[in-house]
Amino acid sequence: MDSKDYFKHKKRVVVKIGSSSLHHENTGKLNFTKIERLARELCDIRNQGIDVCLVSSGAIAVGRQALGFQERVQSIATKQACAAVGQARLMLTYQKMFAEYHQEVGQVLMTKGTMQDNVSRKNAQNTFEELFRLGVIPIVNENDTVSTYEIRFGDNDSLSAMVAALVGADLLILLSDIDGLFTDDPHKNPDAELIEVVEELDPKILAMAKSSTGSDVGTGGMETKLTAARIATLSGADMVIVNAEDVGILHEIFEGKFRGTLFKEHYDEDFYIADFIEERME
Ligand code: GLU
Repeated sequence: MDSKDYFKHKKRVVVKIGSSSLHHENTGKLNFTKIERLARELCDIRNQGIDVCLVSSGAIAVGRQALGFQERVQSIATKQACAAVGQARLMLTYQKMFAEYHQEVGQVLMTKGTMQDNVSRKNAQNTFEELFRLGVIPIVNENDTVSTYEIRFGDNDSLSAMVAALVGADLLILLSDIDGLFTDDPHKNPDAELIEVVEELDPKILAMAKSSTGSDVGTGGMETKLTAARIATLSGADMVIVNAEDVGILHEIFEGKFRGTLFKEHYDEDFYIADFIEERME
């Protein structure tokens, strides 16, 4: 995509990174070089006067490693225990990396309930607003330790879009393990082409959702990304999917020259996030 001025005037960005992008595939251990680079990129965006929020997965995967589980754990209680250990370790890592650039970060853990309940939602919104005012980068995850529902059905693509809607972000960036939205599954079809710009989420685009990203640590596929796109664009934010292989792509986005898919915002004043969640839970 080449459109020099499109991203120039963004004021508030939510960046989401998934578990599979934070870990080395062969060992399942954290990729410190990538996390360090991510911290630097985000601090530099912040230094340009743009509010930044990071939505990071990885709690369960990091906890799994810390507690010595070799395979994906199955029991909900064990997953929650992993999340309790892993979330703390993940934040420790982020805090250390961001401290290199004298950047404060804050942890915000949410559940779907936070978004459904009017009082909780407003409280969360106020907290985010204050964190931005204080120049802090909030680091968000689902509160996996207390919410079994979140672990079983939750995904951080939708969570990041809900956060973008909540904080009134004008841009949501999904750092993924795929370059963007393709006309077909690129792992199976060599002729699949990358779609650079999605003007509108019409049925043709929705039909392209394939539930496979080839990752075995995260929970998001293309389907969850299109749900995220729906939430983000209707609440007034552009959404971009890019490959997290090189997180240096973040500044390329702001320069308007990058490989990925841009979903253009379609603000709808009748779109109400709590109703949307309610509808999908029926
Ligand atoms: N909240 C989960 C975790 O931190 C991950 C959910 C996801 O990858 O979408 O482990």
